[in-house]
Amino acid sequence: MTKTTDLDTLAVHAGQEIEPITGALTSPIHLSTTFERDPDGEYSRGFVYIRNENPNRNSLEAALAELEGGVGAVTFGSGMAAATALLLSLSPGDEVILPDDSYFQIRAILDEIFTGWGLKGRIVDMSDPGRVAETLTEKTKLVWLESPSNPLLKIVDLKRLAEMAKGVGALTVCDSTWATPILQQPLSLGVDIVVHSTTKYLAGHHDVLGGALIYGEKTEDYDRMRLVQKLTGGVPSPFDCWLTLRGIQTLPTRVRAQTENAVKVAAFLHDHPQVEEVYYPGLADHPGHELAASQMSGMGAMLSFLVRGGEEQAFKVTAGVGLITRATSLGGTHTLIEHRASLEGDDSPTPKNLLRLSVGLEKAEALIEDLDKALSKV
Ligand SMILES: *Cc1c(COP(=O)(O)O)cnc(C)c1O
Repeated sequence: MTKTTDLDTLAVHAGQEIEPITGALTSPIHLSTTFERDPDGEYSRGFVYIRNENPNRNSLEAALAELEGGVGAVTFGSGMAAATALLLSLSPGDEVILPDDSYFQIRAILDEIFTGWGLKGRIVDMSDPGRVAETLTEKTKLVWLESPSNPLLKIVDLKRLAEMAKGVGALTVCDSTWATPILQQPLSLGVDIVVHSTTKYLAGHHDVLGGALIYGEKTEDYDRMRLVQKLTGGVPSPFDCWLTLRGIQTLPTRVRAQTENAVKVAAFLHDHPQVEEVYYPGLADHPGHELAASQMSGMGAMLSFLVRGGEEQAFKVTAGVGLITRATSLGGTHTLIEHRASLEGDDSPTPKNLLRLSVGLEKAEALIEDLDKALSKV
């Protein structure tokens, strides 16, 4: 196939080749754990053992690298396994700066696991770059960015923060799970690494767990990550890779349709008397609206809102939905609603009356009708 940078075309074709023996359009799933060695002891076909590499994982990694405009992708069995691998590549004594609003288990993995191994996490509000500048030291080795953030949809200046981190020799990683490569390309803004929970939009159908790190340059850090992947072995199965690659083919179309729905749902909630606040960067009064418009090509399909009256009223809304499903996770075909604070646990900083919506592919008017009915119970 000729090289293209058009994301719609890439999503359909990247990592996909006609299978040479049968001509099958859809690639076979290679379950083999081991591969034949040549009589002279070489592995001329490039495959040795399933943990090191396998055809389905190679295809998925090629597609992810192309979609993010990177040089290589390293995939894992979950988004958290990808995050773990990245933290494992650091050394005791290193400091990691984290945003104050981020996927809660990123904070947890530092506190519960990596602090004991000598990493130090420092949390700042990254929507104020001045605060980040005050926190960066020569010990900072990794700056964790998440934009839009979970669950408050904070937007951070990826280009500026990447430059600042570079100034002290720290790597930047952007959790771009919510934006997807369709709406945001962090590597093109100077970020070193993109992390995805491919469980969400990339796979897109609520049926497979996975994670990936995509690198902008083939550096020593990239080589080290390949080593961490092969040695620690938190890798995805061939079937998981195959399912994720299948999901990617419709990613641009899904993300566009879901974003169109989210824009309508956000406007409805914004004007609803029982809703105190809507967090959606597509709304003109969102504090990150202009920054989002400058670094994203669309505002995405995730939003959160505060129900007037508090936690009890918020639970009345989740109890009142019919079409929308009460469930955690995001980025799939179905619209999901979640009371986030109770999932995150007792020390969650998330407002108790916050509900998070992952807007799916149903008809926008049907979603609005369902929310209207649920909000009328408050
Ligand atoms: C779900 C999620 C993760 C964790 O990924 P898993 O695949 O569940 O391990 C990390 N970051 C964000 C933003 C997520 O939504």
